[in-house]
Amino acid sequence: MQEDGVCTACKQGTLVKTTVRRMNGFVVVVGFILLVASVIGVLFGGLGAALSNYLAKESKRSPQEIESELRGLSVSEPLIQRILAGQQLTSAELSELNQQQQMVVAKETIVVMAKKAPSDVDVGASGLVLFTSLAGVSVVVGIVGWLFIRKKWVFLCTKCPAVVPAT
Ligand SMILES: [Zn+2]
Repeated sequence: MQEDGVCTACKQGTLVKTTVRRMNGFVVVVGFILLVASVIGVLFGGLGAALSNYLAKESKRSPQEIESELRGLSVSEPLIQRILAGQQLTSAELSELNQQQQMVVAKETIVVMAKKAPSDVDVGASGLVLFTSLAGVSVVVGIVGWLFIRKKWVFLCTKCPAVVPAT
């Protein structure tokens, strides 16, 4: 042990405690790329999971509930029927709506379209599984990336190339 800080290899240099990368330069670069990919994956996965969760909840609403919400915002009857039929409104039709109406109409159009997907496919639920998995995989990728760029404490000699692990 080098309690006194003198290098045992050259008996001249002083040992200085410092941090170095555990891996070589290429692995460290890969590690940083993995970390960035991980952050993007977690954000994207989290956002997608939140949206899927919302869609899963929304799609449980009955057409009557959607209808009454649109009526409550004074969306005209022909438009309500088209939305419930799963038709997309034209941009001309949308431009006649106010901003609040547009937002609800956009939301309900997506909900109705999601409902129209094959009955054995629950868009919200499968999206939730997909995006949650993506976020989970991204966390694992991030841990690997962190292992790649991790530093360790060592003693470096000021005179010779001796490297002594700090324990
Ligand atoms: Zn030395």
